[in-house]
Amino acid sequence: MKSARFSKYFIPTLREDPKEAEIPSHKLMIRSGMIRKLASGIYEFLPLGWRVVKKIENIIRRRMDEIDGQELFMSALQPRELWDRSGRWDLYGPELFRLQDRQERDFCLGPTHEEVVTSLVASDIKSYKSLPVLLYQFQMKFRDEIRPRFGVMRAREFYMKDAYSFDSDEEGCLKSYRDNVVAYIRIFKDCGLNFIKVEAATGNIGGSSSHEFMVPAGTGEDEIACCSCGYGANTELSSYARPETPDEKETSADEKNLEKVNTPGKKTVEEVASFLNRKPEKFIKTLICETSEGPAAILIRGDHELNLSLAASRLGNIELAGEERVKELTGASAGFAGPSGLKGKVSIIAADRAVTEIKNGVSGANENDFHLVNINYSRDYEADIVGDFRTALPGDLCPVCGKPMEFKRGIEIGHTFLLGEKYSESMGATFTDAGGTEKNMMMGCYGIGVTRIAAAAIEQSHDKEGIIWPVSIAPFHLHIIQISDSVSEFCSSLFEKLSEKYEVLLDDRRESPGIKFKDALLIGCPIIIVVGKKFTGEGKLEIQCRHTGRTELTDPDNIEEKLREIIEI
Ligand code: ATP
Ligand code: MG
Repeated sequence: MKSARFSKYFIPTLREDPKEAEIPSHKLMIRSGMIRKLASGIYEFLPLGWRVVKKIENIIRRRMDEIDGQELFMSALQPRELWDRSGRWDLYGPELFRLQDRQERDFCLGPTHEEVVTSLVASDIKSYKSLPVLLYQFQMKFRDEIRPRFGVMRAREFYMKDAYSFDSDEEGCLKSYRDNVVAYIRIFKDCGLNFIKVEAATGNIGGSSSHEFMVPAGTGEDEIACCSCGYGANTELSSYARPETPDEKETSADEKNLEKVNTPGKKTVEEVASFLNRKPEKFIKTLICETSEGPAAILIRGDHELNLSLAASRLGNIELAGEERVKELTGASAGFAGPSGLKGKVSIIAADRAVTEIKNGVSGANENDFHLVNINYSRDYEADIVGDFRTALPGDLCPVCGKPMEFKRGIEIGHTFLLGEKYSESMGATFTDAGGTEKNMMMGCYGIGVTRIAAAAIEQSHDKEGIIWPVSIAPFHLHIIQISDSVSEFCSSLFEKLSEKYEVLLDDRRESPGIKFKDALLIGCPIIIVVGKKFTGEGKLEIQCRHTGRTELTDPDNIEEKLREIIEI
């Protein structure tokens, strides 16, 4: 990409943090003139920001091409019929941006492209001879996120690389999946990111196996459990071994009399806990679900979360029951369900181990506006299965090696899914194999949040002055500060010379040195070259490395050699 002169480049930097920005990357992207907000969750990328996005895009493209990916470009505007065929027009919910054309035909703005790509491949690939195929694109995706926030980190319109693999058998599909995982590891390394690969839930994309790539950061929205042995998973689905707990001090002798108390309109654990003045860990949440074995109640401690993956491994496919179904089974609204008296009304009662250890707990009474107080396992209710049903918690041990796991927050930058036949089946993506038999194609899909990577890189690498870009995705490699007009001729020739090898931003504005220094630190190019007092006095250039914070003096004649030593491009 080309070098540029600051005076002619559109970089509207700001001194103050924007009010609505909560996390460093959001603040710094706005302040450094990379992005501007158009509406909630909708951002424009200004030239500086777009340069970074394009660099990330080029890194991804190179690595995708290496695994024989073929770039294409599909439509963002997608007709409803495709989404009806996959069943997702109804399932996707309010995150899908829906609109109508002048003939009142329904469309959506693509949040993802499984439907479009599967229908494309279904109509044009018919034989095993044309498989496998890996297609990818870079495109704006649209999702009406319930809580757009953190700037481009969770936006409603964002730039994604999405890829889709089509294979003729499971073995080929697994190979495609592995190839994409390898490409992802190369991509994130090339982008200069620290990241971890973890097991992940399949969410509303579906499929049988999935991994997320996470950048550890305190501001991340996901929580990951990981271990030095290499195990890692999103805590939503991480399995774990429970540490040995010391014997409960309370015994059955401490069990108090069961009482039914009036809790008008109080449904959530928080509401009832504050109404009854009891701690959430004394509560039993009763989740009514449909499972392959029939209706079930899963009991989770009030301050714990249901681990859908662990629950599914014990109970098969599970889906939380709707309001009406809960009423039909328990006789009360969802917030008032409880385990006592539920036997016979559901096929299975499954309790997380921690629930059975609660002494004198609180649960719903299966009667609207009533809860039971001092409920105890064994005396007041029993479970058909007692096991691990909650999400992993600090203190839990690694399911692979038994060492204590580490818990971190992370930013999901990429996601891979082994889809199998999920979309090819519903959308008729079939082919004839060598023996002439018609079969469903086996698919995988692979997404990378291109614009989210820019934000994640900043979360991972910044200081109080500004961004510290990894060299590979920095908007420019070098930032020359021309301290005054008196050195402009020298700066112009230095700019020309260094631009032969590097991307250079020359700050030739008529601004004070203070402003220029502040902007250079804020924008965060890896190397800042100051043509200032040391130059006019001693004929030396100051080279500042943003990563180490070190400043060195060098003769102008040695500048290229010096740069070769400190920056690798
Ligand atoms: P999340 O759990 O963060 O909502 P997701 O599971 O919905 O992510 P995918 O559907 O797998 O995300 O999308 C692929 C990638 O696109 C994600 O790994 C992430 O990097 C990026 N991404 C997803 N949603 C957004 C968003 N609202 N804004 C920016 N990037 C996003
Ligand atoms: Mg999402």
